[in-house]
Amino acid sequence: MANLVAIVGRPNVGKSTLFNRLTKTRRAIVSDEAGTTRDRQYGKCEWNGREFSVVDTGGWVVNSDDVFEEEIRKQVIIATEEADLVLFLVDVATGLTDWDEDVALILRRSNLPVVLVANKTDNNYQHYAAAEFYKLGLGDPVCISSATGSGTGDLLDIVVDTL
Ligand code: GDP
Ligand code: MG
Repeated sequence: MANLVAIVGRPNVGKSTLFNRLTKTRRAIVSDEAGTTRDRQYGKCEWNGREFSVVDTGGWVVNSDDVFEEEIRKQVIIATEEADLVLFLVDVATGLTDWDEDVALILRRSNLPVVLVANKTDNNYQHYAAAEFYKLGLGDPVCISSATGSGTGDLLDIVVDTL
């Protein structure tokens, strides 16, 4: 699939919420419980006359930490193999985690264009909190709130400029 944008990140960062907002569907199930999105969801997004495809990478398994980490790795690797651009979601409310570092390592090695996205930036104060994600070595985070839609227009500008 040409012009495929993959949304990756650890469980509960808001991947499915962002997918649904970008594709204007409710296809991906949003849940507080990690491990809800079993299947990869594909959809279309149009911005400024440009159309591209979006994939919500789910498939998380939460039986044990080992399986879990392996599953994250697997999903991110599949994403890097098929995508033209990766949106790497992190969560300002939770802050930087070891899993974020693991995913960042895989993404840096992939040589794909990666946009680091600090989700759950629901208010201005949280913009400051997002600065810590700079440590991931993927540039400045783009602050958005998938819940309210704040910042998603700027993110889409970056996506269509980069694709
Ligand atoms: P996924 O596991 O990465 O697909 O995450 P989900 O999209 O299922 O979201 C996990 C939880 O985070 C849900 O309770 C969402 O409502 C919540 N959530 C998603 N985006 C935002 C956001 O921008 N702000 C806040 N406060 N909550 C969000
Ligand atoms: Mg999900």
